[in-house]
Amino acid sequence: MTPPPPPRPDGPCEPPPPHPLVARARRLADDLLEPWAERVDAEGVPAGHIQEIKRSGLLGVSAPRAYGGAGAPAAVARETAEILSGACGATWFVQTQHHTPVRMLARSEGPVRERLLGPLSRGELLSGVAYAHLRARPRTPVRAVRDGGGWRFAGTVPWYTGWGLNDVLLLAGITDGDEALFAFAEAREQPGLGASEPLRLAALGGARTVSLELDGLWLPEEAVVLRTPYDRWAADDRLRTLDTNPAVFGLARAALTLLDEETAAGFRARLARVRSVAYALADSPPGSRLDERLALKTEAFALLQAATTAAVVAGGGRTMLLTHRAQRLAREALFLLVQGQTRETRAAQLSALGR
Ligand SMILES: Cc1cc2nc3c(=O)[nH]c(=O)nc-3n(C[C@H](O)[C@H](O)[C@H](O)COP(=O)(O)OP(=O)(O)OC[C@H]3O[C@@H](n4cnc5c(N)ncnc54)[C@H](O)[C@@H]3O)c2cc1C
Repeated sequence: MTPPPPPRPDGPCEPPPPHPLVARARRLADDLLEPWAERVDAEGVPAGHIQEIKRSGLLGVSAPRAYGGAGAPAAVARETAEILSGACGATWFVQTQHHTPVRMLARSEGPVRERLLGPLSRGELLSGVAYAHLRARPRTPVRAVRDGGGWRFAGTVPWYTGWGLNDVLLLAGITDGDEALFAFAEAREQPGLGASEPLRLAALGGARTVSLELDGLWLPEEAVVLRTPYDRWAADDRLRTLDTNPAVFGLARAALTLLDEETAAGFRARLARVRSVAYALADSPPGSRLDERLALKTEAFALLQAATTAAVVAGGGRTMLLTHRAQRLAREALFLLVQGQTRETRAAQLSALGR
């Protein structure tokens, strides 16, 4: 006779197991990224970290399944970003660049999609990006001029992260027809492309950020992934940059682990509220609730600053040692305040800070 089934527990249901990529990000954070973070901040992201990121599948979190990615929901991508950013800002920042090229390729048609979307989705190649200079309008730091069967790039990219770590770079320039043109290049010195020494930075110094000199770099038409009127690109970029970066919450959470339970409790409630509104806004239709998104973003920044400053205060004088986690998090928080800044987010933040 088969024994009767065990009685059902009366307590609350067990939470469902996390998505496999969330579990993998957690393991990577606990076993590698967090224990090494202060050293990485001082000395740079080692190649071994990138190998582990490539092996983890996290580079394909949002990539289409048909190309070897996980095609995971946005909530999973956000949670993995929170985990990585809270563990090691520099490693998170190097790998986060990769997701824009994947998104752009997934929406594109043509030869570069077939050449690169698979390797980027499967984590065989890591991509960096060089496009934030498009926001410098009316200045045009990088121009792309038609030349034979391709495009010739000239100018200066002020910021390029992951030099020496990533394999390909997504480069943007402005054409004579006032279009934003994006094309892939190999991420190495080559005729027409040179890099500065790694910039000495107050935060994310380990992310190997350089500036790039473009002196006639030629890329074939087959390398182009997007060519669109500048105003259309800028309108999309505006919408993308209005949402709060999940790293804001990852970093704030990491700072809370440095506080005593009672102090942290107040922050936690605030963080849970701001985070859930931020993600509800991110999931609402693109182009909707713009003022709310901007207001929430500045509120999240205020929370981040308060949490990281509290971690410094709680740790006392020792936090001024460059090896102390609290001041690393506070410096990384400063960086997030300007990352992806546009005229609009800059003005909103300044107005909130002045109140
Ligand atoms: C460490 C680090 C690494 C980075 N890595 C990368 C990377 O790998 N790839 C990449 O593409 N980007 C990268 N960036 C760029 C980053 O996202 C930009 O900081 C961000 O887009 C703001 O650019 P900026 O400060 O250079 O722009 P700025 O041109 O100085 O300005 C930012 C925005 O504010 C506006 N603005 C500036 N001054 C004024 C003013 N006085 N009045 C009104 N509006 C103004 C500008 O028009 C622009 O829209 C990196 C930045 C840093 C600091």
